[in-house]
Amino acid sequence: MSSHPAVSASNLGFPRIGARRELKRALESFWAGKADAASLHAIASELRAKHWRLQHDAGVTPSSNDFSFYDQVLDMVMITGAVPDRYRALDGDPLRQYFAMARGDQRDGVDLPAMEMTKWFDTNYHYIVPEFDQNTSFRLGSEKPVEEYLEAKALGIETRPVLLGPISFLTLGKMADGGSALTLLDGLLPIYETLLRRLAAAGARWVQIDEPILVLDLSEAHRAAFRTAYDRLAKVGDAPQAVLTTYFGALGDNLDLATSLPVAGLHVDLVRAPEQLDAVLAALPADRVLSAGIIDGRNIWRTDLDTALGTLRTIATARPRSGLIVAPSCSLLHSPVGLDTETALDAELRSWLAFATEKLSEVEALTQALGAGGEAAASAFASSSAAVISRRASTRIHRAEVDARLDAITAESTRRQSPYPTRRSAQRSIGLPTFPTTTIGSFPQTAAVRNARADHKKGTLDTDAYDRFLRDEIERTVRIQETIGLDVLVHGEFERNDMVEYFGERLDGFAFTANGWVQSYGSRCVKPPIIYGDVVRPAPMTVSWSRFAQSLTDRPMKGMLTGPVTILQWSFVRDDQPRDVTCRQIALAIRDEVVDLEAAGLRVIQIDEPAIREGLPLRKADWAQYLAWAVDAFRIASSGVRDETQIHTHMCYSEFNDIVDAVASMDADVVSIETSRSKMELLDAFARFAYPNEIGPGVYDIHSPRVPPEAEMVTLLRRAAEVIPADRLWVNPDCGLKTRGWPEVERALTAMVAAARTLRAEQAAASN
Ligand code: GLN
Ligand code: ZN
Repeated sequence: MSSHPAVSASNLGFPRIGARRELKRALESFWAGKADAASLHAIASELRAKHWRLQHDAGVTPSSNDFSFYDQVLDMVMITGAVPDRYRALDGDPLRQYFAMARGDQRDGVDLPAMEMTKWFDTNYHYIVPEFDQNTSFRLGSEKPVEEYLEAKALGIETRPVLLGPISFLTLGKMADGGSALTLLDGLLPIYETLLRRLAAAGARWVQIDEPILVLDLSEAHRAAFRTAYDRLAKVGDAPQAVLTTYFGALGDNLDLATSLPVAGLHVDLVRAPEQLDAVLAALPADRVLSAGIIDGRNIWRTDLDTALGTLRTIATARPRSGLIVAPSCSLLHSPVGLDTETALDAELRSWLAFATEKLSEVEALTQALGAGGEAAASAFASSSAAVISRRASTRIHRAEVDARLDAITAESTRRQSPYPTRRSAQRSIGLPTFPTTTIGSFPQTAAVRNARADHKKGTLDTDAYDRFLRDEIERTVRIQETIGLDVLVHGEFERNDMVEYFGERLDGFAFTANGWVQSYGSRCVKPPIIYGDVVRPAPMTVSWSRFAQSLTDRPMKGMLTGPVTILQWSFVRDDQPRDVTCRQIALAIRDEVVDLEAAGLRVIQIDEPAIREGLPLRKADWAQYLAWAVDAFRIASSGVRDETQIHTHMCYSEFNDIVDAVASMDADVVSIETSRSKMELLDAFARFAYPNEIGPGVYDIHSPRVPPEAEMVTLLRRAAEVIPADRLWVNPDCGLKTRGWPEVERALTAMVAAARTLRAEQAAASN
């Protein structure tokens, strides 16, 4: 095998939070005033140095400027001087200004809310949304990319600085008047020109320019903006060579655009979109470097190195004289740091995984194998193929009974016994008034609740005592709901740490890491469960708590479950079968739970699907296929019950206007849905699309401690009643109450019940 002339290895970004979440701790003690800026900076530079060394030692060119105190998009706001006016009062203290934008600031007479935050493409990472208006003017507000490049260089490490590209930066932001931020491009480009010049002057030979929006559906205006921007940046005299970096999907119809821009290299995601390789090879001019994103930056599975090497050889053969970079598919920000701190997993399972650190070793092994090979590469390949074989053959993964059940799914399994109108009559037996009131499930997770759970986990509170504690909490919560006068009660979810983890811990096929943290936003991290095998429910998961809660009251108690799509979406999902298959397996497990809850006497069962919207593919053309299997999974989970049993679902965190028809096709009897933050904008969608079943548009925002007055909720309900028939309207908050305190919850729910009664009285008066 002849070796390829110019193969190198580069990273696209390393997790910045630290293997032991050191950055989280440092940030939180700084915010609490317990540590000063100097110690925050010291910990940050220690982490950067550690991560650069680790990447460098792995033989991979590290990124720089991938570090952030909060978010890389917010960093770009600082770098380009696009700080919204209301934070300008803090110009003299840039660190305080930065955190004010990130999380608000209410100190010494300052009262600034945080900027808006939203999901980074289809990941669980959230970025701060830049705010622009026609008057936004840019200036070089910070030289962070140059400073961090030099910081690494002083350690003897050559890095490749990463910049969020101008078109993605503008597009991910929001223009105050709703117009296009691309009109600001002319003013923005000089900042990039200056940065490129300064990076070159500092010695940087390469720069990574991220333009992830190239995998989205783009308008002609976006395409034109790309040409303008990159033509101009190419004219910067002594700039570093740029690798235009795309990830999370295929370039698709933007491929010709991407390959024609005057940049030195192009990075493509060959994990999410392996099918684009041939097209990329055909379109990319030979003088460009191809950066092949071949190691999965978004999931935790070890790479099959032989297969990956095959792909890289295909590239090397097709482009014998062109530069080739071996790289992860995207920034490793979305992976946990390393397996060495992983104490919770058994050796077999662990041998199937690769976190960020191990992924870099995979990049290195592939790079070496493409070149001269060598012993280290050989041993990496040997253990990779051992892991592939062990995973394929493991008896823990495949369970014949699960296959059989999946095969046995028919159209019948996705359909309730009767259509909604028939079920509605059958459900009159539940005995609910018009404008029935309920909550979304959780009640305040007080310090006492959290402590009891932690003590039980540690073993200092025995199971009997813990169960007694939970039963008391449930009973108290039931009495409070009865006193307030709610119609459908809940048990409060005090036994749950997290709405996915709780179920994952009770299902076969799931594993939990000790330290598999991934940044969600700012200092917040999540530790997603790992779905490694066929999903089986060995025993009921929630039935005893729900049965107990129902035994305390004559009012209907609502059984509370997390739906299959949400469990899938918030986990690391196995990569050896399509996601929809895994989702159906979870759906069957939830279906069994639903049937058992019904048998235990629960007449109302809620299956939460808050994540259904965020699972939508990045390209509109792929939506229908996703929605078909996601809706199907929900229907499998919910269809095992009699007509008399009322199925609820709940959704939040996003706007549902563009998927209302899919929501309707889930065919839940009742959907409760977040609307209050958007002042019921959702109702416009229901004015256009007649939602066929019952619906509870959230009438108050649980994200703030504010207690909404009754009159405000009455107004919202009257508006809702204009587009939704009054006899199909429910009255509920817009999400669970676990982050709130009891006093405000009792007052708010009392007002909410009063609002429902007011509407009932109005209706009675009108029909007299
Ligand atoms: N039932 C859950 C709760 O009330 C729903 C949480 C959610 O929608 N994210 O907390
Ligand atoms: Zn919710």
